[in-house]
Amino acid sequence: MEVETPRVAENTRPEWEEILEESLACVHCGLCLSACPTYRQTGRETSSPRGRIYLMRAAAQGRIEPDGLLAEEAFLCLGCRACETACPAGVRYGRLVELTRSRVRQRGLLPRVERLLLRQLIPRRARLARAFDGLRALQRTRLDALLGSLLPRRLREARALLPAVPPRGQRGMPPEILAPEGPRRGRVGFLAGCVMSELFADVNAATLRVLSRNGFEVVVPPTQGCCGALQAHAGDANFAAELAAHNARVFEAAGVDAVISNSAGCGAAMRDSAGWLADSGRLLADSGRLLADSGSWLAEHARDVSSFLDEQGWRAPLEPLPLRVCYDDPCHLVHAQGVEAAPRRLLQAIPQLELVPHADPGACCGAAGTYNLTQPEMAGAVLDVKLDSLAAADPDVVATGNPGCMMQLAAGLSRRGLRARVKHPVELLDESSGGNVQGAPLYS
Ligand code: SF4
Ligand code: SF4
Repeated sequence: MEVETPRVAENTRPEWEEILEESLACVHCGLCLSACPTYRQTGRETSSPRGRIYLMRAAAQGRIEPDGLLAEEAFLCLGCRACETACPAGVRYGRLVELTRSRVRQRGLLPRVERLLLRQLIPRRARLARAFDGLRALQRTRLDALLGSLLPRRLREARALLPAVPPRGQRGMPPEILAPEGPRRGRVGFLAGCVMSELFADVNAATLRVLSRNGFEVVVPPTQGCCGALQAHAGDANFAAELAAHNARVFEAAGVDAVISNSAGCGAAMRDSAGWLADSGRLLADSGRLLADSGSWLAEHARDVSSFLDEQGWRAPLEPLPLRVCYDDPCHLVHAQGVEAAPRRLLQAIPQLELVPHADPGACCGAAGTYNLTQPEMAGAVLDVKLDSLAAADPDVVATGNPGCMMQLAAGLSRRGLRARVKHPVELLDESSGGNVQGAPLYS
């Protein structure tokens, strides 16, 4: 009789059991390697998905210490999840890398500062708004350039990514409710996002307008918070789970049919939140079931604005926009949420808009949350590949649906002297369906 080898051996580290179980799905075929930007850059097996999974399994089984090479590789990984799309065995690499990051320790000052900012600044709306006020004042007096030259190189490069901060009246939370235009087709919640609210409030306003124009009542609960994406990517999984649990409660209480996001990273975070909350729930035992239930509700109801409008059917009339547009897939939309055709279909519905193909639109641009701050060399190398492909296509507009990608691409295009502007797809849909007709500020 054949005796089955126990999948979880006695020497498995207790908090690594799920990692071990997940890692066993990998059959080492290597089909993911050519899709992996860090493998393409380095050619190193340990910087590939297969190599990282091997290290995760070794750490789970107690064969290596988790805080050395595995920690380095887990954070050199962009978390782009291109390997998931390429994998025929269905390995949930995104889940594996987030679990691993939450269980390894990074050394040095930068990870500690990053974690502090992700806990104390990003999710605290009033503090974040004051920080952007300060940044705006520096930008307006050009002191940011002077101070920037004194910063370490990493932070200097981060400064170059930031667009001009809009004045207070043009950023922040949108109004609490927006009525539908025409017959009401449903009631949706809108996750305004932290970076989106402060730097891309015009994209939020365009999103609300297109939803309303298509017959949806939009509710923006003012007590909503940060989605937890950046915290989860940085390995702070329990804090990310707390943030997700809060949002699940807020949106469920608002009685909405779906929770819409226009940031691929936030959308993927909401859809992944069931896993975070289940993991936290296991660690927190008593309140575990409650956490897992709220995570499931959020994961089931979260939709990116493009997939939602495509599913429901676009109804508003569209005027011509004679533009050549390259659509570039945000990793957290195409790989993490499997949304590829919907934004293209919506853009193609705009008369006279020409969707121009470019090589490998599903490859990462190097933004990846805070990656371009923590791993600037790799982020720059990955961005260069993307810019080569966009330069060859020479579009008027590069359309992409994630704030990090918008900033990364805009900075890269400008540095190369390329003429293309970066826009969110909903900005083009808004413009084609009437734009801000009354010229009225959505923010007050
Ligand atoms: S998530 Fe991206 S960078 Fe990380 S292993 Fe997968 S393909 Fe490579
Ligand atoms: S494609 Fe999937 S199964 Fe094959 S090596 Fe990569 S992760 Fe493992």
